[in-house]
Amino acid sequence: MAKPASSSSSLQIIGEDDELMFDGSESGWVEARTHCDHLGSLSSDLIHIPIPDTPCNRCQHPDENWLCLCCKDVLCSRFVNKHMLEHYQQKHHNLALSYSDLSVWCFSCDAYLDAQVILSLRPAYETAYILKFGNAPPVRAIEHQHNV
Ligand SMILES: [Zn+2]
Ligand SMILES: [Zn+2]
Ligand SMILES: [Zn+2]
Repeated sequence: MAKPASSSSSLQIIGEDDELMFDGSESGWVEARTHCDHLGSLSSDLIHIPIPDTPCNRCQHPDENWLCLCCKDVLCSRFVNKHMLEHYQQKHHNLALSYSDLSVWCFSCDAYLDAQVILSLRPAYETAYILKFGNAPPVRAIEHQHNV
């Protein structure tokens, strides 16, 4: 069973610092789901939403808050006072949009959702984008697009 160690001189990479160099894609679309079973709780009007600078409704934390996509409450993140998380635990509003990077989080899926692929999330994403940046979001290339 013993395998001859013929290549025991293989390269040994000692590079813990290399991990810091890793240029992770932090664009907000990492492993975002394109499907979610909890979209029935979305607010029917996601065109009219609070501006991204809206402070947390509970503690007045000024920025990087979350918008509840069910009742449009603006609440702070789990890294501040966890008011959005509390809101989910109390009211089971499981869909929230981050005003810091415009990603959409589903607490029930415990995952990010792709707000450009999931059509019912798109209005909220686009409106938030326009409020934040002043212009419409760029259209992502779709694989099957075949316009010549
Ligand atoms: Zn708060
Ligand atoms: Zn809510
Ligand atoms: Zn979900």
